[in-house]
Amino acid sequence: MTFDVLDHGSLSLVTSWGSDESIIEAARMSTGKGFKGWGDICHDCNGKGIIERVTTDGEEVDIKCLICGGKPYKPGDEKLLKFLWDNKHHTPFEMCGFTVEVQAPIFVFREWHRHRTQSYNELSARYTPIPDVNYVPTLDRCMVNAGTNKQAQGTGYPLHELDAANWLHGLADFYKLAEEHYQEGLRIGIPKELARLCIPVGRYSRMRASGNLRNWLAFYALRAASNAQFEIQEYARCIGKVIEEKFPRVWELVNA
Ligand SMILES: Cc1cc2nc3c(=O)[nH]c(=O)nc-3n(C[C@H](O)[C@H](O)[C@H](O)COP(=O)(O)OP(=O)(O)OC[C@H]3O[C@@H](n4cnc5c(N)ncnc54)[C@H](O)[C@@H]3O)c2cc1C
Repeated sequence: MTFDVLDHGSLSLVTSWGSDESIIEAARMSTGKGFKGWGDICHDCNGKGIIERVTTDGEEVDIKCLICGGKPYKPGDEKLLKFLWDNKHHTPFEMCGFTVEVQAPIFVFREWHRHRTQSYNELSARYTPIPDVNYVPTLDRCMVNAGTNKQAQGTGYPLHELDAANWLHGLADFYKLAEEHYQEGLRIGIPKELARLCIPVGRYSRMRASGNLRNWLAFYALRAASNAQFEIQEYARCIGKVIEEKFPRVWELVNA
């Protein structure tokens, strides 16, 4: 799974481990009963998912397996999953997880790395010249909350589109100048670890981030929320899509 994010960013799933079922298996360590099943299972033919429910006035009065006519039962593991989550019995959710490769601006990584319980490896600009790829927000992005921007310092007047457009032009010039100075440093032999001092936080970097599902759920809850910065929200939404694909029952549960 690969997603394009912002103007030059991306997020790709590298690997994942475990599943909704492995959470149940881990939670049942004491009884050794393992994963029993989701939904309705027929006692007689072990058939799953082809069940007829007979209802009267909205009440279920009968249930039968459409494969063999036998009586299905509910192993109830979705109930256990919900119980674990609702009661904050969260360690079984650490038994599975995934690793992603991310290209994002350095300022997004600064926020991301505050999630200390994930594991990271990032491209090191001490060893590799960092490519000249920079984040330029759209004009619309600059105008979000322009009238009520709590972070705005200065005049207190609302931001005008023309001023924002001029600022974006200036940003592009600034990126160009920063790159020229960086390249000049590399050219004359300034060590890479020092030449990078002029690289702005809008420069894209690359990393791998790995975490268990509990980590990712916490990351998603904090960073997909509307009070998180727009740019990291965009990445968090991709993390949500990975969770949905790989752990659909957990995803359904946390979004219920
Ligand atoms: C909207 C928003 C605004 C933010 N603004 C700021 C800001 O202005 N300045 C700033 O510095 N940060 C800011 N942060 C970062 C925030 O303070 C957290 O560092 C970040 O969200 C990571 O959360 P976490 O500590 O729960 O995650 P992790 O570091 O992954 O930790 C996960 C959990 O492990 C436990 N844990 C981890 N380390 C410790 C520890 N040392 N001691 C005890 N328990 C631990 C805690 O239960 C924690 O919730 C902001 C975050 C958000 C989402």
